Amino acid sequence: MDLRPASVKVLLEHLGRLPGVGPRTARSLTEHLLTTDPAEVAALAAALDGLHDRVRLCSTCSMLTQDDPCPVCSDPDRDRTTILVVEAPTTVWAVEDTRQYRGLYHALLGHLSPLHGVGPEDLTIGALVERCRAGGIEEVILATDPTVEGETTAVFIARQLQNLPVKVTRPASGIPVGGELASVDQLTLAQALQSRRSV
Ligand SMILES: [Zn+2]
Repeated sequence: MDLRPASVKVLLEHLGRLPGVGPRTARSLTEHLLTTDPAEVAALAAALDGLHDRVRLCSTCSMLTQDDPCPVCSDPDRDRTTILVVEAPTTVWAVEDTRQYRGLYHALLGHLSPLHGVGPEDLTIGALVERCRAGGIEEVILATDPTVEGETTAVFIARQLQNLPVKVTRPASGIPVGGELASVDQLTLAQALQSRRSV
């Protein structure tokens, strides 16, 4: 017979669905949660509870935020002539940590991938073009990941922007091909952002 209590079974099931967590890790996490300080478990539950209600996407730049517009979009001291475009909203955190960038952001929420049925309408490319069309933007830095899909997405966006008075650039060398922008060390990321090439 299955001796796992029903509550534990539910927990194992949910933990096991998390990325990178298999049945073994789910079991050891469950063991930990059952033996650790109950206050810790309550704090974890509170952090999860209502997470999706508290954290949303900025209606302008699609960055993860508690307030809409996000702190960057609503900050008058940011350089409002430059938009740095990334795939995932979380990449912005790594870029901001370099303290080298003072402009605005735009998260695409993915990359073009015809094989997986992801087209331009599934991303926030239209919203980016609108932001540029509204005026005041002088440079768009296409910091999509240095993968085939990231390159393809950058080329597609550059084409969408070619008739607008906007300089389109891409971070230069330094980011390993096939890598993820967010996983690059801060110095490399800062250097790549500083030396940009026109697209
Ligand atoms: Zn924003």
